[in-house]
Amino acid sequence: NDLAPVTVIGLGPMGRAMAAALMRAGHPVTVWNRTPGRADGLVAQGATRAASPAAAVAGSDLIVLSLTDYPAMHDILGPVVGLLAGKVLVNLSSDTPDASRQAAEWAGKHGAAFVTGGVMVPAPAVGGPGAYVFYSGPQDVFALHEPALKVIGEPKYLGADPGLAQLFYQAHLDVFLTALSSLLHATALVTAAGVPAAEFLPGALDTLTGIPAMIGDGLELARELEAGEHPGDLSTALMMGATADHILRTSTQAGVDIELPTAVKSHYDRTIAAGHGTKNWTALYEVIKAGR
Ligand code: NDP
Repeated sequence: NDLAPVTVIGLGPMGRAMAAALMRAGHPVTVWNRTPGRADGLVAQGATRAASPAAAVAGSDLIVLSLTDYPAMHDILGPVVGLLAGKVLVNLSSDTPDASRQAAEWAGKHGAAFVTGGVMVPAPAVGGPGAYVFYSGPQDVFALHEPALKVIGEPKYLGADPGLAQLFYQAHLDVFLTALSSLLHATALVTAAGVPAAEFLPGALDTLTGIPAMIGDGLELARELEAGEHPGDLSTALMMGATADHILRTSTQAGVDIELPTAVKSHYDRTIAAGHGTKNWTALYEVIKAGR
């Protein structure tokens, strides 16, 4: 077997899916997890169980981490930093861009290369069509290990700054998590009125997937946002702000949580107060990016 050995540390749903995909592709895989039982299924399929973090690090030059956050990596590897020289750490755990940059520095101090990644699909999709992963860090190191990393998902390399992959990951998850909360909030609104969720949710999904038709491929909006242009009077901040107020009042009357509609209404209120009411709703960007 001339495929690169890979160690996977962290065997939640994601780490297990990654290890399984790497094994299917023929890579020798070593696994370690704090709760050892989570490795059992993979070991039964042929993975090597590392008895300790030290053994996991010794198992491969390429070490993929799939943990809750970056502090978990420091908990695991902190005690064995002396073994990291010459290793490549690919951390696919979620955290902030700054945590990635600090971790890259920390790894460098101990002679290891550090690649940051963010997996953009749920565990069952790992290794399948449509799976993709943001990466950043040293390009030569990334290129060397790209064949193995491709097994997890299509790599999208963003640049040398180790923070970039987490920046893109968190920005995408910002869209994702906010949309998910809005779906649940809206469902709570209709069920509070006694309407079954099934009568609402399929249509709500149409509203969600209708957004691209309204925005196009995003490039024109990107240009306008960066230029500070908010043309059009079909959906002004004033009109949309009135609707934001109606959503908040409907939510209050229904007795459901109002944090999300309060935040949205606040965007419109401040945009209008700043004098952008008659501009397109995209003028919210001015308030949002200013952080006040
Ligand atoms: P889980 O929370 O299920 O797994 C987390 C892993 O981290 C477990 O192996 C856990 O060990 C380990 N861990 C956490 N804290 C520590 C610690 N202090 N010391 C040692 N080990 C620790 O997460 P997932 O597998 O779902 O996700 C992993 C990463 O992938 C996360 O950053 C997540 O945001 C990201 N991700 C997840 C997606 C998903 O759909 N699940 C999609 C895209 C990205 P133990 O088993 O002992 O608890």
